[in-house]
Amino acid sequence: MDRSELASYCHRCGAVVVGTYETVPYVGPGTHVVELHAVHVQRCAACTNMLIEVPEPAALNILIQCLGAEMVQPLPQLAYEMGHWCILPRPSGATGATVPAS
Ligand SMILES: [Zn+2]
Repeated sequence: MDRSELASYCHRCGAVVVGTYETVPYVGPGTHVVELHAVHVQRCAACTNMLIEVPEPAALNILIQCLGAEMVQPLPQLAYEMGHWCILPRPSGATGATVPAS
């Protein structure tokens, strides 16, 4: 797995991009929208070009597909923890959703 933490440069304008961890909306397969908690986002200050670094996008898409089959609420929040994508518990009205075994 390539986890380079080198300074990156915008491929559009060449300015240095700043990496932050943010919660961002993400559209998965079937246009199901979720929120990704604390993913690495690289943002160019010069041209507002933005790159979201999603670990294991294939596994994430599978999880979103499973969620889409029984999606009851909009925008579930997913987090990448200990090598797996998991669903963050909601503060209210928790459905007790579990992570499918991979
Ligand atoms: Zn740029």
